[in-house]
Amino acid sequence: MLETTLNAPRLFDLSGRVAFVTGAGSGIGQRIALGLAQCGADVACLDRREDGGTAETVEAIRTAGHKAIAIAADVTRRAALDAAVARTETELGPLSIALNAAGIANANPAETMDEEQYQTLMDINMKGVFFSCQAEAAAMLRHGRGSIINIASMSGVIVNRGLSQVHYNASKAGVIHMSKSMAMEWVGRGVRVNSISPGYTATPMNTRPEMVHQTKAFEEQTPMGRMASVDEMVGPAIFLASDASSYCTGVDLLVDGGFCCW
Ligand code: NAP
Repeated sequence: MLETTLNAPRLFDLSGRVAFVTGAGSGIGQRIALGLAQCGADVACLDRREDGGTAETVEAIRTAGHKAIAIAADVTRRAALDAAVARTETELGPLSIALNAAGIANANPAETMDEEQYQTLMDINMKGVFFSCQAEAAAMLRHGRGSIINIASMSGVIVNRGLSQVHYNASKAGVIHMSKSMAMEWVGRGVRVNSISPGYTATPMNTRPEMVHQTKAFEEQTPMGRMASVDEMVGPAIFLASDASSYCTGVDLLVDGGFCCW
């Protein structure tokens, strides 16, 4: 008789956990925030604004029977993130899950991209993720428990054909390696750090001008022949947030419809 105390379906149960999601007012972050709640977590939803998409996320989570708060903050401000994590712990309880999805994208040829365009994107996509991890880990390391998930991109692994976005691609490669580096700094202290690298995903980010006219090409370049829906990012996030991934740290999980195989 095989003896085990493992209850496999409960591996994905997030009941009683508190999650903190950046970029929770739109796209991937919004859908994952709701997905974490649907698995039992209470969720702090951070975005640039408290109203609009963030308010919608909070309402959907409350309707699903869980606690949620909306926090307006800029991820490039470390003090604002510290305050956001402190408020989360006061209102919801000890933080044990963080998912960092706040990010921007735009394009311009490398020869002509000016410093402001480069720096603004790097500040949000790289420094913003770093500051978020620092603020979240400060709480998690105190508790000796936590899972941080950073949304990187397949653009951190490949170069998107037809898109001149050197700063974006570099920022996402940075997020992947930063995640591995922090995973190793905190490996003995109960805090796991992993990243998810989505392929082309149908969100407001992909309605930007340089993307729209190429949508068909992006679908053709993807082995599965289509873009991902935001729903398809939820399962990977629940896996990495939950005890189902208790032996995973420093992993970059490509969720790209097979893109990086070709
Ligand atoms: P999205 O719909 O534009 O959502 C991103 C959210 O982050 C927006 O609500 C945005 O607010 C917020 N945000 C941006 N800068 C912020 C800041 N400084 N402080 C706080 N919040 C900020 O985009 P998405 O497609 O869901 O992207 C989410 C993440 O997935 C990004 O990191 C993106 O790079 C990554 N990703 C996306 C795809 C894709 O195909 N969609 C593929 C791979 C990776 P504003 O709208 O006010 O800027």
